[in-house]
Amino acid sequence: MTFSEEIKAQAVTLGFDACGICRATDSGEEERYMQWLRDHCHGDMGYLERNIEKRLDPRLLVEGARSVISVALNYYPHRTLPAGVPQFAFYAYGRDYHQVVREKLHLLFDWIRQRCPAVTGRSFSDSAPVLERFWAAQAGLGFIGKNTLLILPGKGSFFFLGELIIDLELDYDQPVTQHCGSCRRCLDACPTRALDMPYRLNARQCISYQTIENRGTIDPAIVPLLSNNVYGCDICQKVCPWNHCSRPHTTPDFTPSEAFLSLDLAQLTAMDEERWRNLFRHSAVKRSRFTGLKRNAEAISKTRNK
Ligand code: SF4
Ligand code: SF4
Repeated sequence: MTFSEEIKAQAVTLGFDACGICRATDSGEEERYMQWLRDHCHGDMGYLERNIEKRLDPRLLVEGARSVISVALNYYPHRTLPAGVPQFAFYAYGRDYHQVVREKLHLLFDWIRQRCPAVTGRSFSDSAPVLERFWAAQAGLGFIGKNTLLILPGKGSFFFLGELIIDLELDYDQPVTQHCGSCRRCLDACPTRALDMPYRLNARQCISYQTIENRGTIDPAIVPLLSNNVYGCDICQKVCPWNHCSRPHTTPDFTPSEAFLSLDLAQLTAMDEERWRNLFRHSAVKRSRFTGLKRNAEAISKTRNK
């Protein structure tokens, strides 16, 4: 077994569902990325306008970078919120994925350094300017679908991604050749037409952006289209035929509490800050803040009263 194969096997031993490796190089994504910014598809996410060179080329982010080790971790839930109650995106059901993925990546990096003590690098999980889906596709984990998400053939798209960018030359995987074909279910199902063309998301129109990243009021044109989503939105994943093969995760940290699974609209609209903190202290839901979640619940309440 080569060292690259050993790294991938160790990633699976640590609980990751997939691992691939590609060369750290210029992504070649500049033109597409800059056009997306010019079209203001990033809304008020100003951080996407910063560190653009580092985002496009990991060698500028991590000194001496030679390889990107990309990992995926399944978060598809065993049990879901009942259909009638306000919905949270599946990724937000359990413990904050930033911490879970990072902890596993640290273990993988420690394992590599036990064998190659001179190796340097950094680990990331949605925590720095890294084109995660692009590198995952380059590393052969899957392909980017028209819904802009990474799809792992035979496994679906309900996966967190993470990367180790290191200064060691390794053996590199090939990108996969599967793709969406003539399907356009995600584009047709998106209630807000946020997928304004295949492979492009206009975040300003997206329910995920409006309910999580937006710090102001929700665009009044989006409110009637929230489709009962109080935090994030999984519609363009749920309709994707590649997700027919989704299987529940095997990471205990992602199992939601009974209190979370019993949440309904009445509880959400009546929730005070202390209960919010107790429920979501270790959850990615913190990102929308207490005021954001209340705003979202009230918006859903309004759509029901009409
Ligand atoms: S997350 Fe929801 S709103 Fe955003 S693109 Fe997908 S279906 Fe549309
Ligand atoms: S729903 Fe169809 S078009 Fe959209 S990502 Fe899935 S396979 Fe591709």
